[in-house]
Amino acid sequence: MPASRVVVCGAGGFIGHHLVRRLKSEGYWVRGVDLKHPEFSATSADDFVIGDLRESVLCAEVIESGVDEVYQLAADMGGAGYLFTGEHDADVLHNSALINLNVSRTATKGAVSRLLYTSSACIYPEYNQLDPDSPNCAEHTAYPAQPDSEYGWEKLFSERLYMACSRNYGIQVRIARLHNVFGPEGTWDGGREKAPAAICRKVARAEDGDEIEIWGDGKQTRSFLYIDECLEGLRRLMRSDYPEPVNIGSDEMVTINGMAEMVIGISGKRLGLRHVPGSLGVAGRNSDNRLISEKLGWAPSRPLIDGLRGTYRWISSQVRVAVGAE
Ligand code: NAD
Repeated sequence: MPASRVVVCGAGGFIGHHLVRRLKSEGYWVRGVDLKHPEFSATSADDFVIGDLRESVLCAEVIESGVDEVYQLAADMGGAGYLFTGEHDADVLHNSALINLNVSRTATKGAVSRLLYTSSACIYPEYNQLDPDSPNCAEHTAYPAQPDSEYGWEKLFSERLYMACSRNYGIQVRIARLHNVFGPEGTWDGGREKAPAAICRKVARAEDGDEIEIWGDGKQTRSFLYIDECLEGLRRLMRSDYPEPVNIGSDEMVTINGMAEMVIGISGKRLGLRHVPGSLGVAGRNSDNRLISEKLGWAPSRPLIDGLRGTYRWISSQVRVAVGAE
């Protein structure tokens, strides 16, 4: 029997928008909160509040009594071009910490029974991700902490904040360490987009014989989780009784060059790669799925190529619309 009232913070964003749709399909009453409406299609939320979660008054209004569960996804967020250049460090720390301070305090003071917080693979120490072929992102390796970005430090602080709320105030907290989520209706242009979307866009805009730009030597490794599996993981985690942080990610590790070749193959175009300087993040990262398999009896398994097909189709249609509008 679904809880009657759920609040999704960050419901105008990529994952939040999809999550609202999923929760509605499961029969929940959903309130979305965000600074903005979803960019590419209308929200399915019953109630959508445009507001700033850095304001405690707004927080108290949207997470009022009668709200049973909260999904806290709101964050000052972006891809490597936004998070790893250093230019936005102060804003990222300040904005996301304020959101989490407000949401955690409001949720613990009220009648909220469960809260899910989306942390990130960016909390893992840089020293375990120097070798692109064998990164170590098992949950217990988070400490001694040494994230490679301020974004990662804020996520680690907020994980601790929510776990302290759970210990001191009894609220059930679930923490998902998400690894590179992608799919249709994600940001694909403008500087906040992630690698899969950026590569799909570059390929969609290129013509036979062109080269697309790849940041660095392209040998850095990552794994990418398709949005549908992310939602499945979030729902399973929320329903579980596991109170510690857990990875939700794919363990199909690829190089950025390898992913670019996959997208080029999907497009059917003949394109080369040109390596240029750019923000890179750690050398290697992959989801370690042993804990999620053990605790939830489930782990993402969908091949990367499947998710890339749908994402490329969607981004190339967006590129066509944008070109037509020029
Ligand atoms: P997103 O940027 O699309 O969504 C975040 C939303 O939060 C945005 O719509 C933004 O407007 C909103 N927001 C920011 N500041 C706000 C404020 N002060 N008040 C109200 N709303 C505010 O990001 P996403 O990809 O959907 O990610 C959702 C969550 O998952 C984030 O917490 C992110 O850190 C985490 N995460 C995402 C990924 C990924 O690959 N997408 C990976 C790891 C962790």
